[in-house]
Amino acid sequence: MKEERTQCLIIGSGPAGYTAAVYAARAELKPMLYKGDQPGGQLTITTDVENYPGYPDGVQGPQMMVDFEKQAARFGTDIRHGMITEVKFSENGGLHRCVSDSGDVILAETVIISTGASAKWLGLDSEKRLNGKGVSACAVCDGFFFRGQDVAIVGAGDTACEEASYLAKICKKVYMIVRRDAMRASQIMQNRVKKQKNIEILWHSETEEILGKDEVEGVRIVNNQTGEKQELAVQGFFVAIGHTPNTGIFKGQLEMDETGYLITAPDSTATNIAGVFASGDAQDKIYRQAVTAAGTGCMAALEAERYLQEKESKEEETPKESLVS
Ligand code: NDP
Repeated sequence: MKEERTQCLIIGSGPAGYTAAVYAARAELKPMLYKGDQPGGQLTITTDVENYPGYPDGVQGPQMMVDFEKQAARFGTDIRHGMITEVKFSENGGLHRCVSDSGDVILAETVIISTGASAKWLGLDSEKRLNGKGVSACAVCDGFFFRGQDVAIVGAGDTACEEASYLAKICKKVYMIVRRDAMRASQIMQNRVKKQKNIEILWHSETEEILGKDEVEGVRIVNNQTGEKQELAVQGFFVAIGHTPNTGIFKGQLEMDETGYLITAPDSTATNIAGVFASGDAQDKIYRQAVTAAGTGCMAALEAERYLQEKESKEEETPKESLVS
């Protein structure tokens, strides 16, 4: 257990965190970055990223995050494994006290939050019981285990469509369980799903129970219009129904909306605490793209730099006597 001081602590290692690190390191703030429990963030559990500018042929998500990390390291970011588990933000412009999971204390002049978001679950007992035994929230990570088999996926957003398309390539049959009569996903993603011959979309359908004792053997769904129930024999069950921001440790200190997304000042990443900035999916429930996360990471680092400069010039202007008193 040690106590250290830094000008800039970055919490999280997705596109927002690493972009903040590149900018903060190039501004010579000597940033310290804690990677968190999913190093590289959500892009490490995706395949092709086709919409990040600069990659005309697309790039694999995990490779992209390796590249982000390398770039942040190249300018001297102090990159650390582990999580920040506790924070006590200063309300009067003082040092922010952050504690890591190994008990180390970091006193930070500025903090950039880029903790991202995590997958949501349906909340069924059977989902919990069979998690890791056929139930997964990441088709790209776990789909391979079900190659040649039948699987089901819940959700109708871009993530569900992307994952259903991915599963259709390796599995025999993919049931897509959609609770309404329409999908939220972009048209291009919906079209991809609808074109796949081995994807069957079950509209107006909700999951009642995932079946199986020690591993997934099926799923019972119910049609929410007719009440009709049916059991599908599947070996894998994937949940792709959106995400929750990872902001629990900031509760009571930072302003957030009712779903936990951090609130920042308009056109800024500033939170309600001076010197604490929020970037990426932890504060963005609208766009949630790698490129927008990177953009807000950049903003946060520039704002942190400006904050430190203003603080320094204020201290220089303050007469020595008043500093002593
Ligand atoms: P979304 O919030 O967009 O979609 C969640 C989906 O899950 C909705 O269809 C919703 O249904 C459904 N859902 C939510 N709760 C339940 C439940 N309890 N039971 C059944 N269904 C449920 O999340 P995504 O993760 O799909 O996308 C998040 C953001 O990331 C979006 O902005 C998306 O565009 C973006 N994205 C972009 C990609 C790309 O461009 N390549 C890839 C992946 C994501 P309902 O519609 O009825 O509410």
